[in-house]
Amino acid sequence: MRIEDKLYLVGYNVDEDESHIGVSDPEECKKCQGRPCTYICPAGVYSYDDKEEKLSINYDACLECGTCRIVCSFITWKYPRGGFGVQYKFG
Ligand code: SF4
Repeated sequence: MRIEDKLYLVGYNVDEDESHIGVSDPEECKKCQGRPCTYICPAGVYSYDDKEEKLSINYDACLECGTCRIVCSFITWKYPRGGFGVQYKFG
């Protein structure tokens, strides 16, 4: 089974009002070499637009694995507010 197929089994209760992921220093983010967050995340939450020099964070797809916290010290990550986030009911 492909990881994309498994991701379809995961449910989410998305917090539309507040992202639980951010970047503490966007200027340092622009200087990042290799951009590990864009390939280490199993859910593909991060993407970088070279032209706009901007990191996009699709926080509603986060699996709450914590990997991005290890590879980047500028990512600010906390658990979603109570009642929101990933639900592994089907996975
Ligand atoms: Fe991706 Fe895991 Fe970080 Fe969520 S916690 S953004 S799934 S690496």
